[in-house]
Amino acid sequence: MSLYRGRFAPTPSGPLHFGSLVAALGSFLDARHAGGEWRLRIEDVDPPRCPPGAADTILHQLEAFGLHWDGDVEYQRQHDAAYQAALEQLVDAGLAYPCSCSRKQWRDYAIYPGWCRHGVSEPDKPQAWRLRSDLGLRPVIWHDRLFGLQHFDPAELGDVVLKRKDGLWAYQLAVVVDDAAQGISDVVRGLDLLDNTPWQRQLQAALGYPEPRYLHLPLIVAANGQKLSKQNLAPALPHDDSAALRRLLHRALLALDQAPDSTAAEAPVAEQLASAIRHWDPRRLSPERHRRDTS
Ligand code: GLU
Repeated sequence: MSLYRGRFAPTPSGPLHFGSLVAALGSFLDARHAGGEWRLRIEDVDPPRCPPGAADTILHQLEAFGLHWDGDVEYQRQHDAAYQAALEQLVDAGLAYPCSCSRKQWRDYAIYPGWCRHGVSEPDKPQAWRLRSDLGLRPVIWHDRLFGLQHFDPAELGDVVLKRKDGLWAYQLAVVVDDAAQGISDVVRGLDLLDNTPWQRQLQAALGYPEPRYLHLPLIVAANGQKLSKQNLAPALPHDDSAALRRLLHRALLALDQAPDSTAAEAPVAEQLASAIRHWDPRRLSPERHRRDTS
C-alpha cells in the first residue's frame, strides 16, 4: 500500500491557466518524488460555474504536460450521497444547522453572526446549512510544510456554508469528504486555500477523518501583481504546441524554485518531468505569499 496519495482537484470553471498549472505540477512532483500516487478529482459541485467541456479540456491539458494521474478521474457531481451522509452526521452531532438568513441581512457584520444557531429565523424561506464553527475543534493548529505552524480560531472565521440554499454542495464539505474517501495523505495546493484549511480541519475532526499533511504553494501573480485567474483572462494554456508546452513547463518549474538549467526549456516534457521528479525539493520554495510571473 502506498503511504503517499496526493491529488489535484481543479474546479472546471474554465481551462487551466499558468497559476493552476503550477499548482498541478507542485502536487504531481511532490507525489511522484515520494513514490506515491497522484489522483485527479474534478470539483464540479457548482454546475452553473462549470461550462460544458471545461473538465475535458483540463484533462487534455494535464496529459499534454505529461501530468498523468493514477486511477479513474473522480467527479464530485457523482458524490451527492456521501455529502448528504456527512451532513447528517454533523447535524446529529449538533455541529450543523439550517439557516434562512440572506447576506443582505447581515451585511453590517464581518462574518455571519449565527442568528439561526438555535432555530431557523424564517422557516418558510429557503435554507442553507452551516457549520457551528464555535463548537467544533478550536483552536485549529497545524503545520504547513512551507508556511510552518498555523494557528486559527475558526469561530473568528464564521459559520461556513456546507450546503447552499439552492441545494448545491459547498466546496468546504465536498473537499473534506472526498479527500477522506480517496485516502488522500497529502494536500498540495495554492496558498489561496490556506485560510480555508481551519474549517476543513474542523470538519475532519467532527467526521472522524484523518488529518492530511498540507503544503500550500505561493500564488503566481501576473507581472503587474494581479492574481492570475480566468476572470482577469489569464491566457489559457496551449495543448497542441510542443515548443510552447516545453517552455511553459520550464517556466512552471522556475516558479516552483526547482531551477532547471535554462537549456532544459527545449527538452521534451517527459524528460523535464523525469529530472524534476528526481530533484524535487519543496525546501527550495521560498515562503513568500506571491510569486510574480515575470518570464
Ligand atoms: N477546487 C479548488 C480550486 O480549484 C481546489 C481544491 C483543493 O485543492 O482543495 O480552487
